Amino acid sequence: MTEMPRNFSLADMDREALFHPATSIADHLKNGPLILSDAHGARIKDQTGRVLVDLGAGLWCVNVGYGRTEIAEAAAKAITDLSFYHLFGSSSNESAIRLADRVLSLLREKAGARHLSKVFFGTSGSDANDTNYKLVRYYNNLRGKPQKKKVISRLGGYHGTTLASASMTGIPAYHVAFDLPVEGVFHTSCPHYFRFGHEGESEEAFTERLINEIKDLIRREGAETIAAFIAEPVIGSGGVCLPPVGYFARLQPILAENDILFIADEVITGFGRLGSWFGTAHFDLKPDIVTLAKGLTSAYFPVSASVISEEIWAVLEAASPQYGPVMHGSTYAGHPVGAAIGLVNLDIIERERLVENAAELGPYMLARLTERVGDHPYVGNVRGTGLMLGVEFVADKKTKRAFAAKTGPQRVVAKNAIAEGVLVRGLPYIDVNAFSPPLSITRDEIDEGVERYARALELSTPAIRDLAAQ
Ligand code: PMP
Repeated sequence: MTEMPRNFSLADMDREALFHPATSIADHLKNGPLILSDAHGARIKDQTGRVLVDLGAGLWCVNVGYGRTEIAEAAAKAITDLSFYHLFGSSSNESAIRLADRVLSLLREKAGARHLSKVFFGTSGSDANDTNYKLVRYYNNLRGKPQKKKVISRLGGYHGTTLASASMTGIPAYHVAFDLPVEGVFHTSCPHYFRFGHEGESEEAFTERLINEIKDLIRREGAETIAAFIAEPVIGSGGVCLPPVGYFARLQPILAENDILFIADEVITGFGRLGSWFGTAHFDLKPDIVTLAKGLTSAYFPVSASVISEEIWAVLEAASPQYGPVMHGSTYAGHPVGAAIGLVNLDIIERERLVENAAELGPYMLARLTERVGDHPYVGNVRGTGLMLGVEFVADKKTKRAFAAKTGPQRVVAKNAIAEGVLVRGLPYIDVNAFSPPLSITRDEIDEGVERYARALELSTPAIRDLAAQ
């Protein structure tokens, strides 16, 4: 290793040693990292001592807020008791058992999903969706339908970055130069009325058009070849897109009629984000598989889960003597420390009524955002449900013309927001700033965060005007 010069800073070392995910290498080398040091609640400090209000909860994930000593203590105890053991073969541990049981109970009680039967643990949303993709194949092979393997996803959908999950992700930026999507994954239209509704088309007609497109796709490919449809209840990284009226109510019977499994990707919407425990409850869904991550541990430990229905389980169970062990899963699946953290995290969400807090403060935050930035000349739409909100930019308010620039206004504002003391995300598919604060946020913190964001937007206006002219 070469010796670092005396004045070599952490930022320099970062440039030298770290390959960042989802980051422009050119921009990073030019601008350097934002190095964060400690955090509490909804506030996070950077290395220079500047305190930022985190209106993103990291990546939509720190649902209980930062710096919970109760979780640190549970983690320390878990590490001391049983620092690791895996779930392979039939090995098990108390925390993993209790977390699986708790997740099922919550889904059954809070989302009415009594048909859900087993929890398969992973370590990221991406790997859980890869598990789902593989399980769907496995299930159809076991029940004698080897042709039934294709998966339908949506443009704007985000399901992760591993091979299968990145393929299901419907954001072209995640496919570029990776030779994705893999064969057999189809992307149907993005269900975002504000941007993709035709001029003069009602929301109901938009839903109808999208549903007809899905029906046509199923007809064209043949239902006997299509295994699953994957959807986020509310699209997150693709732009905080709420389903148009009647979308899921129309979609689900079509999937059921065609024997197509419905995978609800609740990685963001699970555990309170929408002001209800699950998107499954919020939109009256009956998924065959539910993907969970983020809020399951509030990102205090990487834990994800695929929750499968009794119907799928029954096929796996019946075929087990013939097929032997299900040879899938990873070292850290059901990690006793992660599971212990998950249990305390869920205790906090319940005890502090954080889902109720999200339900109460979501409309408040939406109103504050609308009031402060809704009239901005380049803001076309402010929307959201619970504490999952978005501000969408348009280059022309009358025509709703989208920005042509690669670096859209949302990125400019997100960058300026740091200087103003607030963290928001600039999303990669449509020109949206996303807001998803910890569910424990207070009204005062919302006021402060929104105010700072509004200032950042004001400061960004000349740059946005330039982008609009491109
Ligand atoms: N699905 C959804 C809906 C997500 O938002 C994400 C992460 N943003 C993922 C899957 C992937 O999760 P991870 O980053 O943990 O792999």
